[in-house]
Amino acid sequence: MTDRGRPGEKGSSSPRPPAGGGGAKLLLSRLRALMANQAQDPKRLERVVELIANTMVADVCSIYLRSEDESLLLMATQGLRPEAVGRTRMKENEGLVGLVSSTARPLRLTDAFSHPRFSYRPETGEDPFHSFLGVPILRGGRVLGVVVVQNRTERAYDDEEAEALQTVAMVLAELVASAADTLSAGLRQTRPVELRGRAMNEGLASGVVHLYDPVVPPARLFAADPELEERRLNDALEALRNSIDAMLTRAGPVLFGESRDVLETYRLFAHDPSWEARLVEAVRTGLSAEAAVDRVRREHRARLENARDGFLRERLHDLEDLENRLLRQLNGDDGGGRVAPPGAILVASRIGPAELLEYRDAQLAGIALEEAGAGSHAAIVARAMGVPAVGGLTGLVTRAEDGDLMIIDGEGGVVHIRPEAEMMSSFQARVAISEQTQAELSRLRDEPARTTDGVEIDLYINAGLSFDLDHLDAVGAKGVGLFRTEFQFMASETMPGLDEQSQFYKSVIDRAGDRPVTFRTIDLGGDKIAPFMGRREREENPALGWRALRMALDHPFFFRRQLRALIRASRGKTLRLMFPMVATVEEFEAARRLLDSEMEWAVKFGRDLPNRLQVGAMVETPSLAFSIDQLKGKADFLSVGTNDLMQFFFAADRDNARLAGRYDLLSRPAMRLMQRMRQRADEASLPITVCGEAAGRPLEALALIALGYRKLSMQASRIAPVKLLVRSVDMAVLARDVQAVLDGPAPSIRNAMLSVAAGLGLKI
Ligand code: PEP
Ligand code: MG
Repeated sequence: MTDRGRPGEKGSSSPRPPAGGGGAKLLLSRLRALMANQAQDPKRLERVVELIANTMVADVCSIYLRSEDESLLLMATQGLRPEAVGRTRMKENEGLVGLVSSTARPLRLTDAFSHPRFSYRPETGEDPFHSFLGVPILRGGRVLGVVVVQNRTERAYDDEEAEALQTVAMVLAELVASAADTLSAGLRQTRPVELRGRAMNEGLASGVVHLYDPVVPPARLFAADPELEERRLNDALEALRNSIDAMLTRAGPVLFGESRDVLETYRLFAHDPSWEARLVEAVRTGLSAEAAVDRVRREHRARLENARDGFLRERLHDLEDLENRLLRQLNGDDGGGRVAPPGAILVASRIGPAELLEYRDAQLAGIALEEAGAGSHAAIVARAMGVPAVGGLTGLVTRAEDGDLMIIDGEGGVVHIRPEAEMMSSFQARVAISEQTQAELSRLRDEPARTTDGVEIDLYINAGLSFDLDHLDAVGAKGVGLFRTEFQFMASETMPGLDEQSQFYKSVIDRAGDRPVTFRTIDLGGDKIAPFMGRREREENPALGWRALRMALDHPFFFRRQLRALIRASRGKTLRLMFPMVATVEEFEAARRLLDSEMEWAVKFGRDLPNRLQVGAMVETPSLAFSIDQLKGKADFLSVGTNDLMQFFFAADRDNARLAGRYDLLSRPAMRLMQRMRQRADEASLPITVCGEAAGRPLEALALIALGYRKLSMQASRIAPVKLLVRSVDMAVLARDVQAVLDGPAPSIRNAMLSVAAGLGLKI
């Protein structure tokens, strides 16, 4: 852009619109009067363009709206040829209008013709118009259309004019949304959309979309009394800041958690003068307080849609969350009580494990997320809830609308929004086949997981919610190999007390009957945040930070309470527990000492006692993987948490959707590590289980048993397929073939493993 068109621009004969925010204000008040009088007038768009052109002293003003085929159709113009209306159509990737639409950002040009994206449309007669200002008409993160002003002269539109047009665009969005005629043709998305992401939990389901955080449009657009609106905005801002400050300084157990980071970021934004200034500015143009917040939020959502940089995305998410909070504040709504109808598919941009747990009783049919990888804790909660889930679906929340029909394919990592009839019937056929397979698999329930040459493999389930225990019988598992106790904490508003904890553990033990349950002591931190978690310094790398056993050891009071609850709940039975994220033998010993002192306390005061105690260490850090010999005589068993172990082994964040699937347990270094650990555990006479997600994947499970693992713990739905495999192999042959793969030159162990499986006649 040249600076020819700056204020006092060369060759411009156009007078300038009023300055100092007055442009938007004047436009808005005229627009308001127009809308009040002619709300359902079929010619209202013509009047709107005329009004904008006159107020902004533009030679042209045009409105393009999205039509059902997603293209942008010229709906009204002042200044271009009237014959072009209803004829000139731009695709998303066509022309400057298409550019504004696809980037969802305003575009200002002094000379539109020299822009590489300029597309000449002779029917419009736009030859004389050099300068161009286009802004998207946004609603719910979606571009409904584009409003453009043009001038003959090569002039530069300033920030204020762009702002004014953006405010108008917001009003236009609501005008379109409330229209019952052709204007709103492109409003409700009707086209089927297929999005590919990553499977987080297997299974097939269909249901209606339930948006986790729907963008609710403001009830009122215009301020009746601008001063009053400004006061309302200021009060809401004040209340918002106070509530964030209160959350940050809330008394109670001073714990850990990334939530502090998030809250700190909220506080920073909430006190940011430029954010406030934007909101106030919007109110001063004549918008209601809600509409002003919404106006700013739309921009952030649109920027988020286009942001590729992870850090920027995070910040935009934070800002959007904050703006949603502010809107709720203005609506007097505390945000609680969100319920999904039974059988719905929960759709969210991102969701933490604790928020997801709020839906544990909602009978969801599936979960679809824009962010989150297969190894994330949201994925683990989805598995615990037993519903198909797909993550990493870019653009999901703007394409899916509340109430849309959706198919979720947790096998292929795909979702279909508004599927066509043929898609739906082929999906139903797949569901029927899968139900049949399930029925066949369930016949294995009472059969042993024994190889053809008589090697027995013990299969356990991973659990964390009490209803998980119902699966024990359904799938015929030996017991619970990993009970994630932190779920109870994540689902509680306040820290569960001793009684609450011990009752919960007792209910789990009772439901398991005589089958063993291995409790993993609390593993919070990283992305696992409990609502009551308070003060914590910002951590650059929370997964590598102060989490799990590390913080438990730093909070012995809190940790001992959990140990006491576990001891009490196991009265007269075996208590099996293990510690997560042990990095050194000393940490294990320190944790064990706390447990011993709790046992002594219970003995001394004649309290309930388990009749047997088995204490294990989770092997989740490479450092502990190389210390197994040192645990001899100190631990009673080991359990390999491959989810964490692999993230640390490969230095690859398990929650990062972009890294999902990039590093493989079925690779030479990881398999060597797994083999070595199993050998060291045998030498130290320590029983060893694998309880990471890998244990439940067929090919990985085969590799693990070939490497000598005899105990695998997995999500309940994986038991039957793994059992079927185990029952089909000859261990001696499998172990020999897998060793040959490991020792051989094969570049891809995964492919070589597939050949091994095929050679054994297995269907993977
Ligand atoms: C693991 O890390 O493999 C594990 C089982 O623990 P979580 O997934 O709960 O971190
Ligand atoms: Mg772990």
